Amino acid sequence: MEHNFIYSQPVKIYFGSGKFAQLGEILDELGLQRCVIACGKHFAPTAIEMQKKNNRIAAVCGGVEQNPQLNGVAETCRLASERKADAVIGIGGGSAIDTAKFAAAIALGDGTALEYYRGERPFPGERLTIIAVPTTAGTGSEVTQVSVISHGTEKRTINNPVFMPKAAIVDPILSSTVPPRTTMNTGLDALAHALEGYWSKNHQPISDLMAVEAVRTVLENLEAAYTDGGNMQARTNMAYASLLGGLSFALPKTAGCHACSYPLSENYHLPHGEACAFTLDSFVRINADERLELLCRKAGLSGTEELAGRIAALKELAGLRRHLRDLEEVDLDKLAHDCAVHGLMRNNPVPMDENALREMFKKLA
Ligand code: NAD
Repeated sequence: MEHNFIYSQPVKIYFGSGKFAQLGEILDELGLQRCVIACGKHFAPTAIEMQKKNNRIAAVCGGVEQNPQLNGVAETCRLASERKADAVIGIGGGSAIDTAKFAAAIALGDGTALEYYRGERPFPGERLTIIAVPTTAGTGSEVTQVSVISHGTEKRTINNPVFMPKAAIVDPILSSTVPPRTTMNTGLDALAHALEGYWSKNHQPISDLMAVEAVRTVLENLEAAYTDGGNMQARTNMAYASLLGGLSFALPKTAGCHACSYPLSENYHLPHGEACAFTLDSFVRINADERLELLCRKAGLSGTEELAGRIAALKELAGLRRHLRDLEEVDLDKLAHDCAVHGLMRNNPVPMDENALREMFKKLA
């Protein structure tokens, strides 16, 4: 095979149990003095305690919710400007990290959050430093230049180098409290990242290597992390798989399964991971080819049929929604249309138009 690619990965990654306790040293190393923390309700009490003990934590924006809204970005940005912060630390799942990324990117600009969101203004030339601390094992947002933010019912993925974190602190201990269903949703998101990065039209060899390892690691550890959240070996392996999943898709981008996840989340309110999992085994079958068979064998599987079956079994184990009848009042034509026109669908190796997607969803009736 003739290799011809550009590879870049600018995030400094601190990985391992206990790494979050070294936050002070990491801030020293990066020369940061005044930080704002963006987090969800789960981490807010800890963040407020941190603020009391550490004068480098200038403020906490602790209300980030799932499918984070633009007003959470605006509030984090306001606090960062008011306290003259030099960094925003996103601590949580993808929702908190994406909020921190967006707020840091616009804090030094003159425009409103909505103007940047709508693309009515270019992002400012300067931004605050972004530190990402994942507490779920799924999104890989700590190593991507993507921020996914909602405004009302619209959920928009914005891909821009301004969102690239300077550092990622991946401490598996932080994920030990994630409830089982969220463990499964997020773990299947990590699996979807690895598979989609691998089969994306823009796949490339270094990302492929990480994808294979991420697939193998998820399949070996997700069930254990789901059934026993206190199993720190499984949690650590899932945190590693999630990081690798993020690196697998950061450059190639995701494809058909993620394209379908947006209409499924927007219209039927599935959490991101569950929305990706909804069609993941279908796309394994649709995208099955020699390369995917090779990934399966390298990941310890007999082939794509076993991979699709393992995904279906994990969904069943956690009681995730797997059929259209599990969703409310599905408009099949609209669903197929919305999935077909999503930009990520163009990355899918097998062309999928509205008709093909309608047929795929009919099999999930
Ligand atoms: P999330 O951040 O929405 O969190 C899910 C739930 O888990 C929340 O209620 C949260 O409070 C809770 N939680 C988080 N950590 C916890 C912990 N340690 N213990 C107990 N509860 C905890 O979920 P997510 O799946 O991590 O992120 C999903 C978001 O990330 C979506 O908006 C998705 O579109 C986005 N995303 C972004 C990227 C990217 O590259 N930027 C990639 C994939 C997904």
